[in-house]
Amino acid sequence: MKLILLGAPGAGKGTVAKLLTKLDGSVQISTGDILRGAVQAGTELGKQAKAHMDSGGLVPDALIMGIMEKRLQEPDCAKGFLLDGFPRTIPQAEALKALLVKLGIKLDAAVSLEVPREVILDRLTTRRTCENPKCQAIYNVKSMPPKVAGKCDKCGSNVVQRADETEEAISKRLDTYNEKTAPLIGFYQKEGMLMNVNATSSDAVVSAIKQKLGIN
Ligand code: AMP
Repeated sequence: MKLILLGAPGAGKGTVAKLLTKLDGSVQISTGDILRGAVQAGTELGKQAKAHMDSGGLVPDALIMGIMEKRLQEPDCAKGFLLDGFPRTIPQAEALKALLVKLGIKLDAAVSLEVPREVILDRLTTRRTCENPKCQAIYNVKSMPPKVAGKCDKCGSNVVQRADETEEAISKRLDTYNEKTAPLIGFYQKEGMLMNVNATSSDAVVSAIKQKLGIN
């Protein structure tokens, strides 16, 4: 399947994407994961992205499009992909549309994950992430803590609170979302590609997507 997952930070895009990859071999493409990996590796991209990320703002569109143009042409995308955290602005959505035409790729849908703001705030302040750039497994101190406190179940690396998950940065990220990313819902509605789902439960989102795409 080839989907865009839209939704505020903490709406569950990453969790839903990981569940969907198990269905048909589609890959999760998270621009946030790619950028965090670049920051940790200290690459030029990471250096340019870090300050924007830490403050809760967005990384410039040109950098993101450079990443995505390469990523979508990698062989593992052939079976399908789940775009998690991209596009994030109307210019990115326009550029993606042109890129997909160029690559001859047709998307199945843009899925908008709808979650009440108080649920989002609670999820983000209690979320913890594996700091290993190759893993980046997600935990929650309340609902899904790692088996050994502070250590990733999958790879044993430290599980930490992201620099952009302090109260202040979260509030900025939600403002950025409302201003820059929420307009994408109207964009994809006009394109005839929008699917709205109540995303309070990730399993229910996966079922709705399966039903819409006719997957058993
Ligand atoms: P995420 O993990 O998707 O919440 O992304 C973490 C941070 O990475 C965001 O707050 C942005 O600073 C940056 N980022 C991720 N994806 C994008 C994107 N498509 N466009 C611009 N900035 C992005």
